[in-house]
Parts: sequence; structure tokens; C-alpha cells
Amino acid sequence: MTVLTDARIVLPDGVRHGDLHISDGTIVEATAASGGEVIDLGGRHVVPGFVDMHVHGGAGASYQLGRPDGVRRAAAYHLAHGTTTTLASLVTGPPDEFADAVASLADLASEGVIAGVHLEGPYLAPGRCGAHNPSLLRVPDLAEFRRLVRLGRGHLRMITLAPELPGGLDLVREAADTGVIAAVGHTDAPGATARAAFDAGARVATHLFNAMRPLHHREGGPVAAAVNDPRVTVELINDGVHVEPAVVRLAFAAAGPSRVALITDAMAAAGMGDGDYSLGGMDVEVRDGRALLAGGTSIAGSTITMADAFRRAVRDVGVPVHQAAEAASLTPARALGISSRVGSLEPGKDADLIVLDDDLRVAWVMKRGIRV
Ligand SMILES: [Zn+2]
Repeated sequence: MTVLTDARIVLPDGVRHGDLHISDGTIVEATAASGGEVIDLGGRHVVPGFVDMHVHGGAGASYQLGRPDGVRRAAAYHLAHGTTTTLASLVTGPPDEFADAVASLADLASEGVIAGVHLEGPYLAPGRCGAHNPSLLRVPDLAEFRRLVRLGRGHLRMITLAPELPGGLDLVREAADTGVIAAVGHTDAPGATARAAFDAGARVATHLFNAMRPLHHREGGPVAAAVNDPRVTVELINDGVHVEPAVVRLAFAAAGPSRVALITDAMAAAGMGDGDYSLGGMDVEVRDGRALLAGGTSIAGSTITMADAFRRAVRDVGVPVHQAAEAASLTPARALGISSRVGSLEPGKDADLIVLDDDLRVAWVMKRGIRV
């Protein structure tokens, strides 16, 4: 039994000042047990552990090839910065490399290092490919997708695709039928096609605004289609580079914190500083914390952590702390179908939490009741 006393407990509907009781790695009602360790938080905020549904790596390591050492290093880096639940995202790779990575990442998901795999590609629009290698993009291939689902052994959780490609809507339906979240992204779809994808079962818009047909007042495209659809969760890369604070504010106002999922889209350079890196075989230069394709202007992921995304939402965007916490934890947890276990500091859920300092930075992190 552990009791966190004098805590500002950040809940989905507001902040409650009091005690948080933890037993056997789970948050429990105050009356469920007694005794044990008492930690006085001196009035500091406690937020639920962050859930990052879109991240490629960190600490110099990438999820791309599924190599266990690198996956562990990247996940540990983000865990230390508050991400207690993470998907591992892969950018478009050659078919065999993709298959090997999915199989290897499935092992690490069984172990609990990651919460599953997100395939960002390979069925993306060439005109909206961002930092993906255009020569590796393919049109939707149901047979290949089914093979990847098999290799993922239940741990392939999400696939980002452009629904306007030939067979795109069939792939959305196939994903929805097999329990893989179809996410609309890297897309040039007009609004009608994006709406058709959501009607076919797609439930996420991948990094809203980035790498998709922009919002136009006479053709709202995937942005309007996603924001207007109450079934859809929209990802936002809140790093101050991909989307400016005014537009993040707009998304929160339009979709609400229960449908905005803060993500990092971080790549290997997160936590490493400026330098030269690789993302899915593409050369990436990081200068002043901005990751760009070498010699170009395409943004190649971010270098932030979820702690940065959360803090920026409060400090730069003006989102109330409980709504920023919701967007960083409960909303992605719900989108991934794991909100009965994680996403909020409520009895019965895993004791995954973050104690913040007075400046809303991470002081320390607990996962399943153990301080990391
Ligand atoms: Zn990404």
C-alpha cells in the first residue's frame, strides 16, 4: 500500500485535492487498505501516465527495425518523461523489413515494453508523404496487410493510410473487422472520401493538419471531416513546430479534449540534441530541435516528449491542466480501447502516474505502482 498525500489529483473533470491510494500496482478506494508507505506531495499535481499513440523512437534509438535493445532504450527514455503506455510507430519500409519489425515488436508488446504497433504506411499518398521514402509507398494490399496482422499476433493496433488510394476503403473495412484501428493520414482525400473512410470504420486522424490536404473553406478535406465526426479522435503534434498554438487551440475548441490526442511523433533524436539521424532510411538533420529531411523542408517528426506536449498545451495554448491531461492520457487510451486499465487516476486502473513540479515538469513517474 502506498498513499500519496496532499496531492492535486488531476481527474478528467477537474482537480481534486487529497490523497491517492495505491495497492498492488492499482489505484484503490481510500478504504480498501491501510498502512504502508506515505509520500507527501506538498500540494503538487499528479496526472495520469501519458499514452503516446504515435512515436518512432527516442534516446538515439528507433522502433523502425524492432531491434529489442533499441526499442527498450527508446521506450525507457519516454517512460522517464511520463509515457507509461506507448505504441511503437513505423514509417514506411520495404515489405520484408516491415514484416520482420512487426514480428519482433509483437514479442516486445507481449512483454509489456510497448502497448502495440502502429504502421504509418506503406499505403500513403505520394503527394503527402512527408518524410516517408516515396519509392516505398504502395497501394493498399489486403494480402500483405493480413500477413502483417498475423505476424503482429494481436499487437498490431493501428494503421495509417490514405483512403483515396485504390482499395483504400476496403483496407479500412478489413482493419476495422480485424480490430486494427484505421487512421486517416498522409492523405490527399477530399472531404467526401475522408467521411467515407470514417463511415467504413476509420476512427483516428493521424497528426491532424500535417501531411494531409489542408482545410479550405470550400473543401474542408480530411480536417473538417475528422473534427466534425464525434467517432473520430484527432492526433496533434503539439511541439510548437508542426502546428502553431492558435491552431491547437482551434482543434481543442472544435473537437474538445475528449477527441484530441496529444502525440509526440518523436524520432530517435528526442533527448539527443542536434545532429544527423535516419528515419526509415531517410537522412534527417536536427537543428535547434527541429527535425527536417536532409536538404529539404519536410518536417521529419519531432524531438519532444509527451511531457513537453502536455506542458505546452497548458502554457502555450492555454488548455486547462485537467483537459491537457485528458488529451495526453485518457483520450488516446480510449482511442486504443485500453481506457479500462489506463488513462485516468480512478480506482481499479493501473497506478501509472506522474508527479509534476511547480513548473508542470515531470518530477517523477510511477508505472504499475513502482517508481521508475
Ligand atoms: Zn509518425
